[in-house]
Amino acid sequence: MSAVMVDVHGVHKSFGPLEVLRGVDLQVRAGEVTVILGPSGSGKSTLLRTINHLEKVNSGWVSIDGELIGYRRSGNKLHELREKDVLRQRTNIGFVFQNFNLFPHLTVLENLVEAPVSARRRPRKEAEDTARRLLDRVGLADKADTYPRQLSGGQQQRVAIARALALEPKVLLFDEPTSALDPELVGEVLDVIKDLASTGTTMIVVTHEIGFAREVADSVVFMDGGVVVEQGPPTAVLDHPRQERTRAFLSKVL
Ligand code: ADP
Ligand code: MG
Repeated sequence: MSAVMVDVHGVHKSFGPLEVLRGVDLQVRAGEVTVILGPSGSGKSTLLRTINHLEKVNSGWVSIDGELIGYRRSGNKLHELREKDVLRQRTNIGFVFQNFNLFPHLTVLENLVEAPVSARRRPRKEAEDTARRLLDRVGLADKADTYPRQLSGGQQQRVAIARALALEPKVLLFDEPTSALDPELVGEVLDVIKDLASTGTTMIVVTHEIGFAREVADSVVFMDGGVVVEQGPPTAVLDHPRQERTRAFLSKVL
């Protein structure tokens, strides 16, 4: 078995009086795809955001490839890292959002070149070569010089995935990457994610696409009420759920 790449341990997160994550444990092994399912409001986005320290946990911890995220340990105490160290850690964690979040004033190529040049100090020429290779990989080599607004939603999301890959992250997080798309554009984005899965990219994908989960996931996690209710291989969780809450959810989405 491969090493644990993402380790979420006993994570609690509240917003004021609302406890959104109530002790989440999750491990994702290197090269594996974990799909997270669960009703709206169950804490899926909050969990992804705690993984890259966009949200600070109230207790528990997250590590990526053995490195604690957002904190350093000294003795048995955790000390918060400085912003610049958190930003460095975040370059190892690619994030693809529901609404693409491309830079509207930059061309497609510049969207991919920006972070490697500014955050990683890569030479521009090298970053551009990588960007063109990645655009080719997501089937958009001919769109390098266009602006995001000139692209369909599916194309924009493929650019967003290529942009996330440009920093060679250790793990890619997807938060409902196809739920803002017209139905006919969902397939092209899922195909890109499937292709990444086949090349051993470590990924956590929050989605309602059960067919995708069945086909691509190594592990399916069902979340409800801020906890992991059930986790296992797709056939176990999707076809033989043990928990009533999982069954109730699946009967609504299948
Ligand atoms: P999901 O992605 O599963 O739909 P979320 O993680 O977005 O769930 O939200 C879980 C709960 O936390 C919801 O009740 C939501 O309103 C609440 N929540 C999320 N972010 C914040 C925030 N920044 N401030 C207050 N409440 C929040
Ligand atoms: Mg969400």
